[in-house]
Amino acid sequence: MKSYFRPEIDALAGYTPGEQPRMRRLIKLNTNENPYPPSPRALEAMRAVPGEAMRRYPDPAADALCEAIARRFGVARDQVIAGNGSDDILTMVFRAFTDPVRPVAVLEPSYSLYPVLAAMQGAPVIRIPLAGDDFALPDDVLAQAAGANFLAVVRPNAPTGNAFPKPAVRALCAGFDGMVMIDEAYADFADDNCMDLVKEFPNLVVSRTFSKSYSFAGMRLGFAVSSPEVIFGLNKLKDSYNLDAVTQAAGLAAFEDAAYLADTVARIRRDRELLREGLLKLGFQVGKSEANFLFAAPPDGDGEGYFRYLRENAVIVRYFPGPVTGRYVRITVGTPEQNKELLDLTAKRFKKA
Ligand code: PMP
Repeated sequence: MKSYFRPEIDALAGYTPGEQPRMRRLIKLNTNENPYPPSPRALEAMRAVPGEAMRRYPDPAADALCEAIARRFGVARDQVIAGNGSDDILTMVFRAFTDPVRPVAVLEPSYSLYPVLAAMQGAPVIRIPLAGDDFALPDDVLAQAAGANFLAVVRPNAPTGNAFPKPAVRALCAGFDGMVMIDEAYADFADDNCMDLVKEFPNLVVSRTFSKSYSFAGMRLGFAVSSPEVIFGLNKLKDSYNLDAVTQAAGLAAFEDAAYLADTVARIRRDRELLREGLLKLGFQVGKSEANFLFAAPPDGDGEGYFRYLRENAVIVRYFPGPVTGRYVRITVGTPEQNKELLDLTAKRFKKA
């Protein structure tokens, strides 16, 4: 058939999500899911949703949830928007700020969805490589990003796990002539975050997800905080009913259960350090991570070989081909038992003589 697609779409390979295999007895450490269940209060709230709430359309603005979010971060209600996962937020933001004459600047490596969203817009992408083995923010990001209308920063970065120094990120917000997005998908696992910068910089949007720290990957819930002007504009792009009634109710309950969040996050942070020490002892190169995953290069520098070996042994991690990323795999921090299984398997392959 003759193609009636826009040429950008024909040319697009599309985003490849991490696999969701059906094999049983599998240790799944490939998509940064939380190994613990969501808050029991979220499950209760989900079960308590009446049939009537399914028959009717949900609150289009997810008001109760957005009010709670605004209160928590000390911003006004009109500075918050909720999304069907943070991917929904990212889609709105790319639609709002990029097009064929409005390029986006991204750091590399970072979230591999960004170039796909840019391609959908037909927007040019300015790729700014991170510096050195520790994937540091280069000093000249502003110079390299000049001419872009939109700058996307992931903090802590994915897939590398490091959090760029906050003063440097603040300087980007102050110096960049365009919109800055800080994608804080993993911020709940970090030592600090940039949410307070929203009060200082009207051209900053901070995006968060419930998928990782709140164990909501299957529910799809994210949100963004920015200036009222930016949230007003994003609302024009939002699907009218982007959040179903069940997710709104469960999300609010999870968000209000701060003690549960603190407990699961503390476990994952602790186990992240133990897993890192274990890998370092086996000769891996593993940078400090402030997320719920580690970016780890095996001693032989063959990320793909290690990925395949683990997979043959029913442990799935994420491998990103490429000259830089191909030396590594990204390992989601699991339960202590899962991490031990991964380390035992790894020791069999790489134990120093
Ligand atoms: N941002 C980053 C950096 C991510 O790694 C992910 C997860 N793939 C997301 C956003 C999107 O997560 P979700 O749509 O589940 O909120």
